[in-house]
Amino acid sequence: MDQPWRKNGACNGLDPDVFYPATEEDAEEAKSICGRCAVVESCLEFALARREKDGVWGGATERDRRRILRQRRQSA
Ligand code: SF4
Repeated sequence: MDQPWRKNGACNGLDPDVFYPATEEDAEEAKSICGRCAVVESCLEFALARREKDGVWGGATERDRRRILRQRRQSA
């Protein structure tokens, strides 16, 4: 799978553990990094399309992503 946007991610080279927090509440550091990432939209859409279960992607935790998908279904 080729995701050329990944090399431009603000998380590139950072400790991946930051993006796999133990709890939703521990996700703030990762969300902050995503908040200044140039490829945040590509990253989020990738995770949504894969129904990614773990980690923070595109500034969204799993719970956030479930909410986004639910909202999209409701407005479709
Ligand atoms: S949005 Fe967040 S997880 Fe995705 S590439 Fe950017 S910094 Fe990394």
